Amino acid sequence: MNDVDLRGIGMTSQRTRDRLIQRLREEGITSAAVLDVIRNVPRHIFVDEALSHRAYEDTALPIGHGQTLSQPYIVARMTELLLADGPRHRVLEIGTGSGYQTTVLAQLVEQVFSVERIRPLQEKARQRLRTLKLQNVQLKHADGGMGWPEQGPFDGILVTAAPESVPPELIEQLAPGGRLVIPVGGEKQELMLISKDEEGVNVERVEPVRFVPLLAGAIR
Ligand code: SAH
Repeated sequence: MNDVDLRGIGMTSQRTRDRLIQRLREEGITSAAVLDVIRNVPRHIFVDEALSHRAYEDTALPIGHGQTLSQPYIVARMTELLLADGPRHRVLEIGTGSGYQTTVLAQLVEQVFSVERIRPLQEKARQRLRTLKLQNVQLKHADGGMGWPEQGPFDGILVTAAPESVPPELIEQLAPGGRLVIPVGGEKQELMLISKDEEGVNVERVEPVRFVPLLAGAIR
């Protein structure tokens, strides 16, 4: 990771990034804050060098261990849903993966807590976050299906791998007024927005999605 080029932006790449932002707008992303962050986060450092020329395409990319870095549209959509109702302070992410979504969140909320079950992915993500000098992120190597009870409650939870059904632990760790954005299902998945208020828990189906499965247990 010591050969990471954070400045590798050049004229061409700036145009490429603008094209991505334009495309996200066309796909219905409206939050200026989210679009701004996506424009400025260097997505190319979150994938292998061999794939970096595709980093600003609106497409999911492999990150090893059978996992994928989500398509920018879905990162933008989930982040926008999480923030739609006002600022978020303590946000839990399940599935650190490359650390890209973590980095996007870290620019927009106060504190990010991110859990990953595959140790080598977590280590790479940690190096990237260090390179970017992000100070407001804490990482944990664990099965995130249980959330992170010691750090809860959270006013935002974002899950980037799909369970068959919503883990009750995550709803428990949601603060009143909190929002949980999570893909749910097996072959057929749907993005869900779950919010908590004095009356109880509300569930909204957002749109069909395709994520890697949320798996049990942590691996080294
Ligand atoms: N947010 C990531 C997306 C990575 S793909 C990014 O921006 O790159 C989803 C990730 O969830 C994978 O890294 C996978 O290992 C992780 N994952 C799957 N089940 C998990 C679990 N139970 N706990 C924590 N992480 C999990």
